Amino acid sequence: MAENLMDKIVSLSKRRGFIFQSSEVYGGLSNTWDYGPFGVELKNNLKTAWWKANVYQRDDILGMDAAILMHPDVWRASGHVDNFFDLKSDCKTCKKRFKTADLKNADKCPECGGELTESRPFNLMFKTYQGPVEDAGNIVYLRPETAQGMFVNFINILDARHPKLPFGLAQIGKAFRNEITPGNFTFRTREFEQMEIEYFVRPQEGDKKLEEWIETHFNWYVNLGIKKENLRKRPHGKEELAHYAKACTDIEYNFPFGWSELEGIANRTDFDLKQHARQSGKDFQYFDDAAKQRFYPYIIEPSGGVDRSVLAFLVDAYHEEKVPPRTNFEKNEAILPIGAGVKNDTRVVLKLHRDLAPTKVAVLPLLRNRPEIVELAQKIARELKKNMVAVYDDTGSIGKLYRRQDEVGTLYCVTVDVQSMEDKQVTVRERDSMQQERISVDKLKEYLLQKLNN
Ligand code: ATP
Repeated sequence: MAENLMDKIVSLSKRRGFIFQSSEVYGGLSNTWDYGPFGVELKNNLKTAWWKANVYQRDDILGMDAAILMHPDVWRASGHVDNFFDLKSDCKTCKKRFKTADLKNADKCPECGGELTESRPFNLMFKTYQGPVEDAGNIVYLRPETAQGMFVNFINILDARHPKLPFGLAQIGKAFRNEITPGNFTFRTREFEQMEIEYFVRPQEGDKKLEEWIETHFNWYVNLGIKKENLRKRPHGKEELAHYAKACTDIEYNFPFGWSELEGIANRTDFDLKQHARQSGKDFQYFDDAAKQRFYPYIIEPSGGVDRSVLAFLVDAYHEEKVPPRTNFEKNEAILPIGAGVKNDTRVVLKLHRDLAPTKVAVLPLLRNRPEIVELAQKIARELKKNMVAVYDDTGSIGKLYRRQDEVGTLYCVTVDVQSMEDKQVTVRERDSMQQERISVDKLKEYLLQKLNN
């Protein structure tokens, strides 16, 4: 049943234009995905919601956008050159590669029973060369996390903005890891986007701030519509902690393939600032004016994945619903049966939060062979587009159009019908309740803006 749900999400993503296999016409590049017209809107809306909550609505966080390519010494200082390894084993027969941890002490290939090579370390960083000469002196890495771009700018930020502790830096951007076992659609890929905060605190405040960030970010997912029962907090055991972390808790989502990490929130201590001070010879300490003291702040890091969150929001929003027959409506020719557009009394609907829904409003003509209806609907759509993401669609019967909009999570459908020509009113149908209201064309924009913003 759960696997079936994953298949449905993958299929809907392709069919409706959320997520496509990368380079599909060439057979596809495995585990690499492209976001289509609805996918890019959903992803941008998610990033905007995150930026609003973490940067605009707070007084203590500043935004940043660092380059993907960085000086290779960054990765020496951070420990990634020496420590960012997974152990892997290869099958000598079928050549498949496995994470040693996933083999659980098996000594034969789980796929074909072939002999396995000894377990060997495998660095997950992608390497390339800067400039035309491919020699060791020109090696650069594609960043495996956005975090280091914020650590190495710590001094610049202090000089430019003079923030007082506690304060944070926030960044959203691409990261790359040469994962041994990518999979589960967009859950684990080699190219992905992260949303990270580096929150600088006095060392003695670290434990408290870690707890605060776990709560704040747990609630962020819930406030954006993820069902609470599908989220959990999982503190790391000591043996699981990364080399730089004192404590870490994952926020996990109950994906169809099991509970898995959406975001990790760690106390990185003063490890990173001290490492960069050592490697660069620069002073990464914070000067406390009041106490006249210099010290290395601790860093609390909430680090989430854009792609994993998009997937979780898609899974959580996916509903197949039995639709009740029309019973409670007064006879009104302009109002469609409540189950209109629904085959066999079931509909697929993405109940995405209004801030995440890729399209807010669709304007649909009830009869597409009536020029005056089409003209009014197009005019309404043009007007709404000035203030919200609105589309006009007349490429099917009204039933088909409703079904299509439900499947991509459009919040409101505005239908223009014959009666609209006389009474200058249109029918507005709300996605989740399917309730319909007649609204005058003059008041429509105001009505929708109020629904979208309140
Ligand atoms: P995992 O244990 O799943 O490999 P991680 O603990 O290595 O993840 P972090 O280093 O904490 O991940 O990265 C922070 C966030 O970046 C993760 O919570 C996840 O949302 C995202 N992320 C990390 N690796 C990937 C990946 N390969 N594909 C997609 N998102 C990823």
